[in-house]
Amino acid sequence: MAQKTNPFENMLEQLDAAAEIAGLDKQDYITLRYPERELTVNFPVKMDDGTIRVFTGYRVQHSTIRGPAKGGIRFHPDVDMDETRALAAWMTFKCAVVDIPYGGAKGGVTVDPTGLSQGEIERITRGYTAKIADFIGPEKDIPATDVNTTQQMMGWIMDTYSTLAGVYSPGVVTSKPVEAGGSVGRKEATGLGVFFVTWELAKKLNMDLAKSTVAVQGFGNVGSNAAKFLYEAGAKIVAVSDVSGGLYCEDGLDIPALLEYVDKHPRRIIEGYQQEGVKTTDNHGILTCKCDFLVLAALENQITEEVAKEVQAKVVIEGANGPTTFAGDKVLEERGIIACPDILTNAGGVTCSYFEWVQNLQHHYWDIETVNSNLERIMVKAFNEVYETAEELKIPMRMAAYIVALKRLIAAQKIRGIFL
Ligand code: GLU
Repeated sequence: MAQKTNPFENMLEQLDAAAEIAGLDKQDYITLRYPERELTVNFPVKMDDGTIRVFTGYRVQHSTIRGPAKGGIRFHPDVDMDETRALAAWMTFKCAVVDIPYGGAKGGVTVDPTGLSQGEIERITRGYTAKIADFIGPEKDIPATDVNTTQQMMGWIMDTYSTLAGVYSPGVVTSKPVEAGGSVGRKEATGLGVFFVTWELAKKLNMDLAKSTVAVQGFGNVGSNAAKFLYEAGAKIVAVSDVSGGLYCEDGLDIPALLEYVDKHPRRIIEGYQQEGVKTTDNHGILTCKCDFLVLAALENQITEEVAKEVQAKVVIEGANGPTTFAGDKVLEERGIIACPDILTNAGGVTCSYFEWVQNLQHHYWDIETVNSNLERIMVKAFNEVYETAEELKIPMRMAAYIVALKRLIAAQKIRGIFL
């Protein structure tokens, strides 16, 4: 069978499979197979050398059944409509799994930001925001960070939107810097959520995190923070990778030293990091290395059918969105490897975005203890709901997560009914 790597097709296969297990009729969830609204924009940007380049961007609102659309914006050369659609849908299910009052959305600009100046990145961010400004809003659709987008960029989105609207609107976007209406703890929240879920799962599996080995694919915001929290809990981080390649160390990487190295690196990459016993490896080497937990914190379609056959980890922790293909998932399941699904595992980010939005709407700000204790409460509750559903129905956690989400989405849809 030809392997599907169109992420939207992958999402539909997951959704249909979960619906079948739950005994749902297609009519019950047909609206969730289609995004509600899709927007493509082309906008000109003046580059530093004086030339004008036209960039293409997208914003997809998959669902507003349970609340305003919500989801990040990514800057990446592979961004296209199909990817944005899939990522928007996963946001809908993710917000329903953790039971926060949002639908799902996603956006992106097709661009490789490496080598662009801060000024160019600012103008691309503002150009894109101006073109989607009518589409978004604190009560309509709230963007946030995602792959290659930063808190500073969210500050520019807030400024562009507020200027165009003529109203100070911090609630239009989340993951802003704290100085501009952001929430404390938001930057670390996805990685911390990954940690909470891994901790809970390890307990259920009778695995001692402090005696476990971990490999982390991706050392951006999610991967580096997940590695930090897991390291602090005593886990041995034997491998990490990023766009520049991978590092492997049987005795465990010194994560605080690596974090400091990356922080000082002009391109914020792991390349060139030195530590005794560290060997370099590649992406495939990271995905297939011997470890207890493999944390995926990069992009979609990493664990394909072929790669899944070689995975040596006992548990795959999906910090990224859609890192395992439908076919890859089947192989992991056959081989008894547990996949802790993205729509649960990486929901800490959007959960803290929800806290940020609540703080913005109330103009009342929380301290870090309030943020992190609420994050832990929500993540642990969602984990237990998914885990118990999986146990009860004897199904993989991914299917259980979809079923938890589908129940909430379908209940809300039934009450709202169909307009016209
Ligand atoms: N981009 C993150 C995600 O995929 C965060 C989204 C948000 O905070 O809205 O979950």
